[in-house]
Amino acid sequence: MLHRVAVVGAGAAGLCAARHILSRPDRFAPPVLFELSGRVGGTWCYEERVGTDERGLPVHSSMYRDLRTNLPKEVMKFPDFPFEEDLSSFLPHEEVLRYLQSYCERYQFNTVVEKVNPVVMTTEDGEEKTVWEVTSSDMSGHCRTETFDSVFVCSGHYSDPHIPVIPGIEHFKGTVLHSHSYRFAEPFSGRSVVVLGARASGLDISMELAKVCLSHARPRFTFPLPPGLRQCSALEAVQEDGSVRFQDGEVGVADVLMFCTGYNFTFPFLDCGRLGLQVDDHVVAPLYRFLLPPAFPSLFFIGLCKIILPFPHFDCQVRFALAVLDGSVTLPSRAQMEDEVRRQQQEKMERGVERRHLLVLDQDQWEYCQSLARTADFPPLDPVIRDLYQEVWRQRRIHPENYRRINYRLETVVYNKLNKMKALI
Ligand code: FAD
Repeated sequence: MLHRVAVVGAGAAGLCAARHILSRPDRFAPPVLFELSGRVGGTWCYEERVGTDERGLPVHSSMYRDLRTNLPKEVMKFPDFPFEEDLSSFLPHEEVLRYLQSYCERYQFNTVVEKVNPVVMTTEDGEEKTVWEVTSSDMSGHCRTETFDSVFVCSGHYSDPHIPVIPGIEHFKGTVLHSHSYRFAEPFSGRSVVVLGARASGLDISMELAKVCLSHARPRFTFPLPPGLRQCSALEAVQEDGSVRFQDGEVGVADVLMFCTGYNFTFPFLDCGRLGLQVDDHVVAPLYRFLLPPAFPSLFFIGLCKIILPFPHFDCQVRFALAVLDGSVTLPSRAQMEDEVRRQQQEKMERGVERRHLLVLDQDQWEYCQSLARTADFPPLDPVIRDLYQEVWRQRRIHPENYRRINYRLETVVYNKLNKMKALI
């Protein structure tokens, strides 16, 4: 019998899962892809509205109007599906959405997954097997429950803002918002904004705001800042008179506090305790190969890792998951998988990695993808992708305002690398 898969979410990860499942009609029935919104693309569906939608659901996307990708299309693409050749390397978000729309062919919309529950059933051969009851509701609130052999959780993790505790925040007299609700710079024109957090969004939004207002960010940047943008130490507290106090003792007045402090993991449709999973703000564990709970190896979480090259990473995880499901990869026992996760976590923490960063892969992502490819026997990522990704990060650190002006050509990177190697010989 064909294996039935439910895919939760039609962002890049869910589309990737659906595409690979559809390419295996010998083993898998066409997947059922649930998407709470009316469109494919997830994060890449720009929505000017913030807060909640007409159904009272939180607006999912954190995309802002003038965003251009921070990775060039040459490395950002799914390995088996290039962007159009005549596009520049760094794309406006509309182009990524167009790309994702052409990447997929079938989808099912306006359906929210409310519950995903494991149920043990007995097969015709008398064996016990876990299947998944997926309960969803449509626009009219009509609920239905269907049964699947496995579920791919592709619901994204950039929608539930993480706001750290700042003592005295209730005294702040201006506007407080999270980057999830930031769309464009104009409303901040002439205002003094304190941006907290200096990762991708913090850096990007600071650059946008610097054009229209005075902006402070937590220190991290080692490059000259554009006029109007100034680095401060971490925000320590808001004082009773509404002024902000920084860790180095500096006190200032601001009109806006903008939290670019990341997002929480949330899976409202899962009973994580029952699945043996611990989910807190930044960690989901234990997940064997950052992908599946050892106790339930037919539930797959696609794309939970951080500081990765998202689309190629999703592609590797989906291919590995399908190899598990079609039997070409045999998983170790539950105890062995749990042991491996524990060992890896311990190793990381001994290296000084904080618990909340356990899902950060960064440089480990290449070996991770490579090892999924080796185990499941699919083509590994081209090493040139890694070289170009690293070059872009280097450029981003030195020229945060201008790095997107470069147009990359993979052939050029290969050529330069070859030349460097020749020079070494
Ligand atoms: P999402 O895109 O979030 O998709 C999840 C989908 O699941 C959504 O459509 C949502 O509606 C649906 N969903 C959620 N819950 C349910 C439910 N219960 N029932 C049904 N449907 C549900 N990556 C890059 O590669 N390059 C970039 O330049 C880049 N820039 C970024 C800029 C910003 C501001 C942000 C926030 C992210 C950026 N990323 C970038 C990372 C980006 O998140 C990933 O590239 C990718 O789009 C994530 O895809 P996803 O499918 O995991 O999640």
